[in-house]
Amino acid sequence: MKFQRKISLISAAVALCCGSVGAQTGVAGETAVPLATPWMNAQLGAEERARLAVAAMTFDEKLKLVYGYFGADMESKKTTRPAPSHKQSAGFIYGVPRLGIPNLWETDAGLGVASQAGPDVRPGTALPSGLNTAATWDLQTAYAGGAMIGAEARAYGFNVLLAGGVNLMREPRNGRNFEYAGEDPLLSGKIVGAQIKGIQSNRVVSTLKHFALNDQETGRTTLNVRIDDRSARMSDLLALQIAYEEGNPGAVMCSYNRINGAYGCESSYLLNEVLKKDWGFKGWVMSDWGATHSTVPAANAGLDQQSGMPFDLADYFGPPLKEAVLNGWVPQARLDDMVRRILYAMFAHGVVDHPVAPAPETIDFTAHAAVSRKDAQEGMVLLKNSNGALPLKRAAKRIAVIGGYADRGVLAGGGSSLVYPAGGNAAAELTPKTWPGPVMVYPSSPLKAIQARLPSATVAYNDGSDRAAAAKLARDSDVVLVFATQWTGEGFDMPNLSLPDKQDELIATVAAANANTVVVLETGGPVTMPWLPKVSAVLEAWYPGTSGGEAIAGVLFGEVNPSGHLPATFPASESQLPRPALDGFPEVADRRFDVDYSEGAAVGYKWFDLKGLKPLFPFGHGLSYTEFAFSDLAASVKGGVLRASFTVKNVGKVAGKQVAQVYVSPLTARWEAPKRLAGFQKVEVQPGAGVQSSVTVDPRLLAVYDSASKTWKVAKGDYKLSLATSAADDQAVSTVVHLEAAVYDVNGKRSR
Ligand code: BGC
Repeated sequence: MKFQRKISLISAAVALCCGSVGAQTGVAGETAVPLATPWMNAQLGAEERARLAVAAMTFDEKLKLVYGYFGADMESKKTTRPAPSHKQSAGFIYGVPRLGIPNLWETDAGLGVASQAGPDVRPGTALPSGLNTAATWDLQTAYAGGAMIGAEARAYGFNVLLAGGVNLMREPRNGRNFEYAGEDPLLSGKIVGAQIKGIQSNRVVSTLKHFALNDQETGRTTLNVRIDDRSARMSDLLALQIAYEEGNPGAVMCSYNRINGAYGCESSYLLNEVLKKDWGFKGWVMSDWGATHSTVPAANAGLDQQSGMPFDLADYFGPPLKEAVLNGWVPQARLDDMVRRILYAMFAHGVVDHPVAPAPETIDFTAHAAVSRKDAQEGMVLLKNSNGALPLKRAAKRIAVIGGYADRGVLAGGGSSLVYPAGGNAAAELTPKTWPGPVMVYPSSPLKAIQARLPSATVAYNDGSDRAAAAKLARDSDVVLVFATQWTGEGFDMPNLSLPDKQDELIATVAAANANTVVVLETGGPVTMPWLPKVSAVLEAWYPGTSGGEAIAGVLFGEVNPSGHLPATFPASESQLPRPALDGFPEVADRRFDVDYSEGAAVGYKWFDLKGLKPLFPFGHGLSYTEFAFSDLAASVKGGVLRASFTVKNVGKVAGKQVAQVYVSPLTARWEAPKRLAGFQKVEVQPGAGVQSSVTVDPRLLAVYDSASKTWKVAKGDYKLSLATSAADDQAVSTVVHLEAAVYDVNGKRSR
């Protein structure tokens, strides 16, 4: 596998461009712009301020704002970052100081403040993986995580956080699933939207990415996704649309891949039509790093800013854009629109009125660690728990901890989203050490956290490399905790759904030696578990972030009752997937190929339902140390709005949180699949108590999108509403509701 960060060529034109367009000082003769600065009047609306500022800008100043640089030196291309950028950062755009418009300092990503690899990485707090946050099914936790990483971004002097990843999990082998929020448009859209809102509460712009249908890494810059408009709007685009509505991101990042023949950053359908016209997005579209492929087609298709030069083959939005505007190939009005959009978002999100400090500010890492740990603990999923194996008993005398670097820390995913922890990599010897590495193990050791809770027990560690030794330790122990890891990252996919490095054999061997074996998984996404019947418990801990060791121990010992539920189906085997073999795998550089999304909008559990497949673990599944019961399900329709109310009772012995999942199935109409998640609510219930709750259903989840009229149409008829603990819950409480025919506009608002 070739781990190379994107493009391998650099045009000589870059050097030329960067001297002229990128220079900090204005062009001679352009300083005589009026000094009055009405756009700095915070009483005016952001649109008006942006309009006034654009009117005051010179041609060259406008061009500067649409041209982004990589924020790190690139040895391979012999380029250095712009002087005012932050070291080893993702991006930088020169502002217009003469007009009070600050520079844009951009950092990755959705899990915290990442650094590009090198000697000057900045320590940050990493949230657990996006899948973990989605598994919380809790919008407040998602918001709090966003607010925390946004605060760190601001403290480090960044005013743009390249977060908001909400690519739908169509492909469980996708190496970047850990950055995203799973397979369901409602859950992932709501969770990522809440995170964006949290980030932007710091007066930092967040992106929403990657726009769109960028669901596998194999061939990501060359593949062509084929999908019809209706299916796209009811799946991947719906997730993006909901996240956009919830989060109101200032920027959207268009993706590397091609969609129905056009590059993501050159797709007028996606950018001009869906995003800007249909959804009414007023902010700006930036390209992914290396995803711009032209000047005139890209600018006219709706791309507002080229990012991360020198990643692209040429400086398309540098001198070539100037020439294109001078000749009318890109209308002047379009350039003004590009700039107005950037300025609009900067004004609207407080980036201009509340400039970032010139030097890093103090970060309360202790408080931030607590936010990360809470997120991790709300999202870990207890997949199996037999014979009361968990929570662990404090009376246990001999505990074996095996594998997964558990003596040192917890795994993180690789690529541009990697946050470097204070304390450095706990397993710096692991490879690859360069892109998309380093393989990072955060120094938050589960072993130490377990030992601390059992001061008088013997807690022994075995690294699992010698299966016989691991089995001997298991045999001599009362309880065995096996930690299994799967490193995934940007730029590559998993060859299959199996744990790598013979860990399946290790677990099977250990479980054969001691039936009281608990498996803790740190995986990028779904994996198969051939040893499942042989172990007593399984906890899916994802990549649990910089406080992961503590978080895992807290759940294992029952200090925190697990309440995570799967945001994605865990298949029993690859053969159950719409594409049993991953298209384009193994990757051949520059090879172009199509990926047919023939499953349409039937993604994840919808596909499994449609085909009658039984997964290993269904979407929505998650156990607790207590038991819950649902009752009193009632549905009402008022003014066409469907609402479901219900009671969640805790019928067990300890306090806990249950995720009430409301699924809807049409009894007469035909959808892409038998049912959809239509609403959810996480409720905390004390033992013996009951809590009443309700969900209101977004009409788009009751409708089928009609491309010709750009409307969502609800068909008249009966619909079954189920209150379930997972997508495969056959004990679900249900009721039937009658809906009249109704039509909603492209944004799900009542139109007739
Ligand atoms: C990724 C983006 C990221 C950008 C900047 C790209 O490789 O796809 O998600 O924001 O790099 O580092």
